[in-house]
Amino acid sequence: MNKPKKRAFFSQKICRFCAEKIEHIDFYDIKLLKPLISERGKIVPSRISGNCARHQRQLTTAIKRARNIALLPFTVEH
Ligand SMILES: [Zn+2]
Repeated sequence: MNKPKKRAFFSQKICRFCAEKIEHIDFYDIKLLKPLISERGKIVPSRISGNCARHQRQLTTAIKRARNIALLPFTVEH
């Protein structure tokens, strides 16, 4: 029986933090946070980023902290 194995397509996005087994998101890790922030400084929603709820929450906190210490820009609204 040589059934071709079904490939796990990434139709459903996988939480990158779960994938990398990151337990705690460090707000100093800008490289980690930056791709999850839109051009306008908004946090990319988990639906788009594919993050799980647990990590998305941590991420939100991390980004807010990073903003407070001016590592990241605040949302620019006109
Ligand atoms: Zn996760």
